[in-house]
Amino acid sequence: MLPPFADRLIRWYEHHRRDLPWRKTRDPYKIWLSEIILQQTRVAQGLSYYQRFVEHFPDVHALAAATEEEVLNLWQGLGYYSRARNLHYTAKEVAGRGGVFPPDAAGLRELKGVGPYTAAAIAGFAYGEAVPVVDGNVYRVLARHRGIEVDIASPAAYRTFEAAARCLLPPEHPAAFNQAIMELGARQCVPLDPKCLFCPVQDDCHAFATGQQSRLPIKSAKKPPRPRYLHYLVPQDPDGGLWLRRRTGRGIWQGLYDFPLEEADRPLDEATLRDRPTVRTLREAGAEWAALSPRYEHILTHQRLFVHFHDFTAPVALIRATFPELTRATPPHWDDYPVPVLIRKYLNDR
Ligand code: SF4
Repeated sequence: MLPPFADRLIRWYEHHRRDLPWRKTRDPYKIWLSEIILQQTRVAQGLSYYQRFVEHFPDVHALAAATEEEVLNLWQGLGYYSRARNLHYTAKEVAGRGGVFPPDAAGLRELKGVGPYTAAAIAGFAYGEAVPVVDGNVYRVLARHRGIEVDIASPAAYRTFEAAARCLLPPEHPAAFNQAIMELGARQCVPLDPKCLFCPVQDDCHAFATGQQSRLPIKSAKKPPRPRYLHYLVPQDPDGGLWLRRRTGRGIWQGLYDFPLEEADRPLDEATLRDRPTVRTLREAGAEWAALSPRYEHILTHQRLFVHFHDFTAPVALIRATFPELTRATPPHWDDYPVPVLIRKYLNDR
């Protein structure tokens, strides 16, 4: 017989589970893929990406054989592009071992981009290993139900919540328990207005008994995002070519395409921008400048971007001489280049 908490949770799950494709497989490749996509992404958004990846790359060998550009192209819009680069790197590594993923959570943690949560999820769901899978939903359920006061943003959080989950995990049904507690957090024990009246573990819930649902889990305030002021110089030639830059340096958009950039620590007006050395040189060489675009705003985890685009038209030879690293694209081939969401928005608005 199962302990009461696990029993009530698994029974509830059997009636309320969402029908998601990665729950119907025990293929470690597909489970790994779904877990990487769902890091920092909601299920509703991640689902179509998962389906597209499985369609394009049905196994780890197919993903390993793709170019980085193909992978980034499919990933466009999901953000956190290092996930896509790590996905591709790890696919090549696993393909090099004959396509076989490590057989347990400890081995899986050695893979690039696979942290303790993802390793536990793959080992638990693909191999039935009895390890607790602890994501943000599980933090919330456990903090409220057990009255755990540890700050979930602190370095000690994972170990504390993992230990609490391990005590509750029934070794005979680890996968069902892990899915059930994550689903409870995603659908019932939600951040705002949890549905306590219909909760299967309400009877012995600390937060429900003491009215502390809105205080738990404890999470220290995040620092406000740093503002950055970006001014993209968008080169075009008289034959309709648009010139893109591939970002090669390390950073959030590594491997994606954008345009040459002037950055400032405050917003620049048109006159100040025209006086920047690159812009001045281009102007003096005969480039024609359009007015600044309206301002775009884009929020990243730790940054808030305020962005203007400044189109200019110049002969091919001048563009090449000023920016030898650029690639020429013509419509509709712009769509073949992986670009950040912000750049896609601008291209669609043109
Ligand atoms: Fe969460 Fe409410 Fe259920 Fe407690 S009773 S676990 S707070 S949904």
